Amino acid sequence: MHEYSLASAIVEQVKKIAQEHNASKVKTIKVSADPYEMVIPDLLKEAYGIIIDELELFKDSNLELLILPAEIICIDCDYKGEPSIEGDDEFAYNFRCAKCGSRDTHLNIRHLTIETVDLEILE
Ligand SMILES: [Zn+2]
Repeated sequence: MHEYSLASAIVEQVKKIAQEHNASKVKTIKVSADPYEMVIPDLLKEAYGIIIDELELFKDSNLELLILPAEIICIDCDYKGEPSIEGDDEFAYNFRCAKCGSRDTHLNIRHLTIETVDLEILE
């Protein structure tokens, strides 16, 4: 399961961050992902729940997932940002540059990223 490996990677990274900060608890983790990462939020949360079940550090913590809007880079004018989308289809080949209208664009895929981690720090 795609979400399971993503959740497990998040937990591993946050463990390191928590250790670096001498944290006693992880409270909230905010992550963002591109729509083309195809992450299903409910499955990610479910996988996260299973992984942290036995981990005291993560007890009662929350995982929040933000799905970012699609982003393109235009080959013709270097525009970077949300595309204009033709028709009802959200497939890449229907994307046009929002600035110059060119179809010569590529998707700027942003992989799942940890945005913020809210920790409880021991004094
Ligand atoms: Zn353009």
